[in-house]
Amino acid sequence: MVVELISVGTELLLGNIVNTNAQYLAEKCALLGLSMYNQSVVGDNPARLADTIKTALDRSDVVILTGGLGPTEDDLTKEVCAEVMGFELAEDPHTKARIQEYFKNNIYKVITDNNWKQAMVPVGAMVLDNDNGTAPGLIMEKNGKHAILLPGPPNELYPLFSRQVFPYLQKLQPEIIVSQMVKICGYGESQVEDKLLDLIDAQTNPTIATYAKTGEVHLRVTAKVASQEEAEKLIKPVVKEIKKRFGNAVYSIKEEETLEMAVVRLLKKYELTVTTAESCTGGLLAGRLVNVPGVSEVFREGFVTYSNKAKRKILDVNKATLKKYGAVSKETAKEMAMGGVFATDADICVAVTGLAGPDGGSEEKPVGLVYMACYMNDQVTVEKYQFKGNRAKIREQSVVKALDLLRRTILEQCK
Ligand code: ATP
Ligand code: MG
Repeated sequence: MVVELISVGTELLLGNIVNTNAQYLAEKCALLGLSMYNQSVVGDNPARLADTIKTALDRSDVVILTGGLGPTEDDLTKEVCAEVMGFELAEDPHTKARIQEYFKNNIYKVITDNNWKQAMVPVGAMVLDNDNGTAPGLIMEKNGKHAILLPGPPNELYPLFSRQVFPYLQKLQPEIIVSQMVKICGYGESQVEDKLLDLIDAQTNPTIATYAKTGEVHLRVTAKVASQEEAEKLIKPVVKEIKKRFGNAVYSIKEEETLEMAVVRLLKKYELTVTTAESCTGGLLAGRLVNVPGVSEVFREGFVTYSNKAKRKILDVNKATLKKYGAVSKETAKEMAMGGVFATDADICVAVTGLAGPDGGSEEKPVGLVYMACYMNDQVTVEKYQFKGNRAKIREQSVVKALDLLRRTILEQCK
């Protein structure tokens, strides 16, 4: 089944409103397993609208039109679509009664003559009652082609679609789409694709799509199937293979689980507490952790030690270390992480120190150079990164890598 959307309204063409209806409908159609190859936006012009509808009906099985069902002169979606498909319009007593009822229940709205235009429906069309407005939704079907007309206001369109159109389309299209997320940290998008090339090339059902995020790559494994059980059968082996290839770099297979949530999940699992010692990230790392509800069980305090003095005073970083190696160095990162644990009695400390720029870089230590360290069980791991991008981007990437370092340290120490 191929579906396409036509959004009607000059307002949309002029950019006065954002086409959120198209986004909503496209998402729902994908969920239903319908294929969508085209979407159009057309103004309130009968000739161009007729052309657009003809083209759409030619190449698609289902055409969903939104907007232009109102009572005014410029609302002509129903008239034009009925004309193109060869439907006559006639007054529908049921719709007329509903319009009367609607006005009775809406004391501030005055019923005007042009409202009766909305009681005219194509003869033989399916009428979808609209509880939030006066224009009913309409479905016209002829020669295996379906035109579904919906009012433009989202508060009218959403309930009409979910209650009446969604089940209608479900019957037309018995296949469903089921997908499974796999979230990876520590590999770039091209590396991930490279490692999965054979899988990506070979498979049509399920398909694997990659999405690059800051410091992460998300994979969506999607199957088009008749039932949930069949979906599992198709998806499971592919996810298993991906996990095998990426090992610990897969931090979650839950759609809603973020990296920080995965970290907090591990901390809770092994009953560990963590603290943070941040320089260039200035609290962003602690902020990410605190995003997670219930983090108080595992995170009690964290430090922003921006100056050398603060690093010495709070984290007990050696004056000589700072002098010899500088604040952005392996040695300082290491001492920050150790100092964090001793200052708080936490089980783990993750520390970040780096150059976020734009100034302050040198040939030896360019902007984007970041060291991070993680101290746990008297062992410390230090990592060095050279990030690209502006100040915000460098800090954001640092936080992701620090969270991941923390995650990998826990997995390594607790295995
Ligand atoms: P009405 O009875 O209100 O005239 P209608 O079905 O004729 O409804 P339009 O006149 O095209 O629809 O649009 C009415 C309002 O609905 C717009 O002002 C806008 O707020 C919203 N709307 C229309 N189309 C869209 C769209 N594609 N995405 C988001 N909102 C939309
Ligand atoms: Mg209108």
